[in-house]
Amino acid sequence: MGSEPPEHRPATDSPGKVWLVGAGPGDPGLLTLKAARALRECDTLVYDYLASPAVLAFAAPDCDKIYVGKKAGAHTLSQDEITALIVRLGLAGKRVVRLKGGDVFVFARGGEEAAALHAAGVPFEIVLGITSALAAPAYAGIPVTHRDHNTSFTVATGHENPAKGSSSLDFTKLANPSQTLVFLMAMGNLGAIVDRLREGGMPDELPVAIVREGTKPTQETIVATLATIVAEVERTQFAAPAVVVIGNVVRERAAIRWFDATPLFGKRVLVTRPGRAGDELASRLWEAGAEPVLAPTIAIGAPDDAAGMRDALRRLDTYRWVIFTSSSGVEACFDELAREGGDARRFGRARVAAIGHATGGALRVRGIVADYVPKKFVAEELAAGLLERTRPGDVILLFGAQEMRDALRSILSQAGRAADAVAAYKTIAVRDPDIADLAETCDVWTFASASAVRSFVDNVPGAIDLAQDKTIACIGPVTATAARDAGLTADVIAGEASVEGLIAALSSLPARAHAAG
Ligand code: SAH
Repeated sequence: MGSEPPEHRPATDSPGKVWLVGAGPGDPGLLTLKAARALRECDTLVYDYLASPAVLAFAAPDCDKIYVGKKAGAHTLSQDEITALIVRLGLAGKRVVRLKGGDVFVFARGGEEAAALHAAGVPFEIVLGITSALAAPAYAGIPVTHRDHNTSFTVATGHENPAKGSSSLDFTKLANPSQTLVFLMAMGNLGAIVDRLREGGMPDELPVAIVREGTKPTQETIVATLATIVAEVERTQFAAPAVVVIGNVVRERAAIRWFDATPLFGKRVLVTRPGRAGDELASRLWEAGAEPVLAPTIAIGAPDDAAGMRDALRRLDTYRWVIFTSSSGVEACFDELAREGGDARRFGRARVAAIGHATGGALRVRGIVADYVPKKFVAEELAAGLLERTRPGDVILLFGAQEMRDALRSILSQAGRAADAVAAYKTIAVRDPDIADLAETCDVWTFASASAVRSFVDNVPGAIDLAQDKTIACIGPVTATAARDAGLTADVIAGEASVEGLIAALSSLPARAHAAG
């Protein structure tokens, strides 16, 4: 990306810099602002198996991504090789993010990597991440401290086998029921750990929870007691990566379970609208416990002929009202203004309308507070509102897609308003064989425009058959009609044509309406 601020551009002869970044446990919403910025600005990304794709997607498309593995038993590079690699990249002038799951200093060998960078004279920064030791319990509804239960908590590695006598963990100190124990990397030695704790006097009935894939839509939790947990793990074939929480705090889950109790939890939801990391629909889906699967079926491009837009922009202040029907229109308008050295002042006394909150928000970022946002986000509602606010003869400018529906303009013209519609952008159908594969793996398909539906069915040959066990969600009635015309039935139509409306409608579906139950 060419958007790096100048103060971050390295002088050619100086070493680069390495950011040791904690990616958090999986939910990309748990990335810190610093981590997101380092990811956006780095030219080389060194990551291992705990990094989730949603986090990697924050890196620029042209960033060099180097996978170094390190899954237990399947090492791709040894720790020494990884350390040597980041030192070498730093000395070569690269701007490197070394991304680690959770936090960089919690069982992550960040200390060794930082020491090696220091010794080699490579500048570095530590960007903390949220450790799974805290996050996995929290997302399972288990606070690591609670005044009714404990006054301390201990985070320990379960990697050392206590049965071999080589463990440096003092189990007589750990065996204290008034402290919470959190074990990472403990699945392989769970039996031995539990035995030692029971020998040390921990009561059999002490609750134990194990949380795997914490903070992800694939999160799973089992709860048992010290006496029964090993059998429970065997019965459910529970596997790493998981955090083991031992102590009375586990009882709180019954009352505070939240993340895995949300209606959309665990659903895979196909997002067909254009969007990358940070897409609003995708972030809201994460918040709702769902896994967004990005499969854009349309892209936004420049209109075939931008002359109409340029001409209108030069005369902006001659319009009574300027109407934006999407945030893409807002972006296109201000990008074009900026190319000419203009800004929001060009609007002069023209009043501005936005068809929805997202469009209104995009305007606000550019310094304009919309004078009118209709209650329902459809063209007919916007037209009715504009007719109340204008008189015959008033001149109105519509900024929209090249393939904009004519409904708005014709209603306005019939009522004697002079409406100019200019193409600010066009939507381009994407051709991508991955779309069909991704669609098959999802429980829910979402459509935010008629063009996204049409391109989707062109990309997915068996769409109508596949759709039988999918939930189909459309952002509004026009999109739902396009779906019907394409042979798909909308199970859900958002009450309000917005991302929030779509999520709310999906969340209110009875559980059985979802394919995966
Ligand atoms: N630095 C990491 C820990 C790395 S050690 C952190 O701060 O979280 C690897 C161990 O972390 C795994 O064996 C598992 O115990 C734990 N772990 C990492 N991510 C996890 C997740 N999303 N859910 C549950 N456990 C996780």
